[in-house]
Amino acid sequence: MHELSIAHSLVQLAIETAEQNHLKKIEALRVKLGVFSGVVKEALEFSFDIATEGTSIEGAHLIIEEIPLKIFCSQCSQEYVLEKPIPIKCPRCNSGTDQILEGKEIELYELVGEG
Ligand SMILES: [Zn+2]
Repeated sequence: MHELSIAHSLVQLAIETAEQNHLKKIEALRVKLGVFSGVVKEALEFSFDIATEGTSIEGAHLIIEEIPLKIFCSQCSQEYVLEKPIPIKCPRCNSGTDQILEGKEIELYELVGEG
């Protein structure tokens, strides 16, 4: 399961970051999840609970912020946020683009905890 290995990586990163910042208790992880990351939000939440079991951050919550797909259209020289990630086309001129600016990321951006 794809999400489980991602959950393990997030847990590992959170534990290392907590140690570096001398946090005793981690309450939550805030994660940015792009709609085009290929990760299913519910599956990641489920996997996260499994991945934290028996670790020092067991019981921590996973807070997921979904990031919409943002593209750059070279025809219009404009950035657009797409409401639907598929197809990846400029909403104004309808030309295809492979310049994805946001929406593919899986990023741990904040740890909520006590020092
Ligand atoms: Zn365009």
